[in-house]
Amino acid sequence: ASAGPVLSRPAPPAAAAPVSEKDAEARADRLLAKMTLEEKVGQLSQRFDIASLFPTGAVAPPGMPPMTPLDDNVRKAELGAVLFVHDPAVANKYQKLAVEQTRLKIPLLLGYDVIWGMRTMFPVPIATASSFDPAMVEQARGVAASEARALGIHWTFAPMIDIARDPRWGRIVEGAGEDPYLGAAMAAAQVRGFQGAGIGTPGHIIAGPKHFVGYGASMGGRDYDSAYLSDSELHNVYLPPFAAAIDAGAGNIMSAYMDLNDVPASANRTLLTDILRGELGFKGWVVTDASAVHNLVKQGFAEDKTDASIRALMAGVDMEMSMSPNAFSTLVGAVRASKVPMKRIDEAVRRILTVKYRLGLFENPYVDAAAAQRVLDDPAHAAAAQVAAERSLVLLRNEGNALPLVAGAQKRVAVIGAMADSPGDTTVSLAFPQDAAKAVTIFKGISERLNGVATVETTPGVQLSRLVPSPLAGLRGPAKLWTPAQTADELKKAVDLARRSDVVILTLGEKIEMSSEQASRSDLTLPGDQRKLLDAVLATGKPVVVVLMNGRPLDLTGVYDKVPAILEAWYPGSRGGAAVARALFGDVNPGGKTPVTWPRSVGQVPTYYARNLTHNPDTADKRYWDAPSTPLIPFGFGLSYTSFTIAPPTLDKAELAPAGRIVVSTTVTNTGKRAGDEVVQLYIHQRAGRQSRPIRLLQGFERVTLAPGESRQVRFTLDEANVRYWNSVERGWVIDPGAFDLWVGNSSTAQAHATFTVGGKPRAAR
Ligand code: BGC
Repeated sequence: ASAGPVLSRPAPPAAAAPVSEKDAEARADRLLAKMTLEEKVGQLSQRFDIASLFPTGAVAPPGMPPMTPLDDNVRKAELGAVLFVHDPAVANKYQKLAVEQTRLKIPLLLGYDVIWGMRTMFPVPIATASSFDPAMVEQARGVAASEARALGIHWTFAPMIDIARDPRWGRIVEGAGEDPYLGAAMAAAQVRGFQGAGIGTPGHIIAGPKHFVGYGASMGGRDYDSAYLSDSELHNVYLPPFAAAIDAGAGNIMSAYMDLNDVPASANRTLLTDILRGELGFKGWVVTDASAVHNLVKQGFAEDKTDASIRALMAGVDMEMSMSPNAFSTLVGAVRASKVPMKRIDEAVRRILTVKYRLGLFENPYVDAAAAQRVLDDPAHAAAAQVAAERSLVLLRNEGNALPLVAGAQKRVAVIGAMADSPGDTTVSLAFPQDAAKAVTIFKGISERLNGVATVETTPGVQLSRLVPSPLAGLRGPAKLWTPAQTADELKKAVDLARRSDVVILTLGEKIEMSSEQASRSDLTLPGDQRKLLDAVLATGKPVVVVLMNGRPLDLTGVYDKVPAILEAWYPGSRGGAAVARALFGDVNPGGKTPVTWPRSVGQVPTYYARNLTHNPDTADKRYWDAPSTPLIPFGFGLSYTSFTIAPPTLDKAELAPAGRIVVSTTVTNTGKRAGDEVVQLYIHQRAGRQSRPIRLLQGFERVTLAPGESRQVRFTLDEANVRYWNSVERGWVIDPGAFDLWVGNSSTAQAHATFTVGGKPRAAR
């Protein structure tokens, strides 16, 4: 697998000498011995710095606490961590208060949502997962880490590694899609990228994978709604990314908001202690999601904030994140009333202090503001963002080789659509909203690419607006809605532009704010008048290429069947338009694959390859009266401007013996005329088990770049880890011997087949 250019790693902004874990623990213990109960509870409390969350001059929206700075709380040692600070001056102000004005001089941990970039905006995670290129993803997170660290941030609430099988859920955009194997690979890559060689690596930050666990299974795709998961589904599907992240050394874990099997995840001892620490061996500290302790009361679980705090702490939470004054302050009284043992408080405090020592914060809590700019302006970062965008593109359709276009062959190019020239729809930086103006939109990218060889014009054609009021309306300001006359006029403008152009590049999809938190949808069709726009543009008879911008699979009824070429760009980041332009005009050959199954309509949800029976001709069309059972686009699918063959797999042995290995080989050949990338995928299926086994499971992938005519052998190793599963009856990992099918190919419908058996007796596995 290749990964774009090697980046020059910027020099660490603060000389944070990494401290060994053992040393850090010993020092934490010595400090702990000097602490009062109030000081200890302070360390367990993290609070929003609301003022840092909003641009200067903004007014906090209704329902948000006021923007009062936290100076007093820091001075009184009431906080161990603060979130959203991203200005070195503010970071240094708080640290100075913490280390100069508190009795024990304990520095603060500063956390931030560094999700798809800090200053340099990378494609959204569902896009980077489409690359099937963990090395690129690791590098992207390394860039984000260096920028965040330069600003004084120590820790990110990322990666989001929730498996998501319901595209209605807005947060599907933040993760790696539906598959636990791909999800685990992307989770580990992101942890390595953020943390570097481990906690305390200069220029890196601590990763806090989230949301533990099952948030992606929220009922109806509704944000925050309850999830119900069997023990088997939890272990086989939702936990593997967390296991991988923990194995990769993640220092922190964030607990989820929602109820899992009727117990809130943030006060769920089975999850936070038995599974997280017992089964997964997590050694770091657990933080709750924002205000999740306060929410325990609203969830109909806890009596009041004292009860909530006690139950969260005793379930395994170490630190409370809160928007308003921390509920955890009630733990002082709870300890005094003997409702919480001091031992549990000490354990949590020790974890947090250990991390502060390991980061070198006691030696140097400050950030060098002058050095920050150098890191933020490193041109290698923008280059990395562009490579990431190029590698994340998925060519969903290309009938009659409509793409690539030849630059200059069409003299007048129209770029139409609500997201076509909207910088905020590439990906937005919370911290640097002013940067949006510099983002390369699809229109800008195409204009630059065709500079001097064609005229490029743009117009939105439609306006996409929210159908229910936004909770953040006060912050964003009400959008100025078009009048009916304007709506008709704008549509006409788009049609006129199409008429006088030789080709139309039409961006369709969703505004970026239609994805992520509090942005679930009950419908997956194109919002607003986009289909009307598409039909009007098609009616001009001009060739049309669709660039999709969206954070979830969409219902492409009326699009997929009408448009020959569809390029999935997701939200491609600040260099996204340049990447899309390069792909449209053939400088780059798209090689990404969709990390989610695309349903034909919302009624098919959930549909995912591991369980849908599309591979079985007997059941493929017997499930609905009004629609086929097959999805529109299978998991792992993506086209290329060249063609590939993937040879039938060969196995070095027919049986996987206990503790043994099988090496699976195949040869991939570029049979076309252009260089290109193929993602070779390996799927397995166990024919019989003590529990019904999924139709297929991805157990290997590799993205290879091949010149025309070139062949490459790709090898996968299978061992017991690939064939074990969590059995609900046995309540443990098991291996069931027997016959397996195996396929290699370039999507979840791969056809090149072989078989193998797993030998030995039915047994427990680790
Ligand atoms: C989200 C988290 C996020 C936190 C802080 C919460 O509402 O669920 O993912 O890290 O806010 O921004």
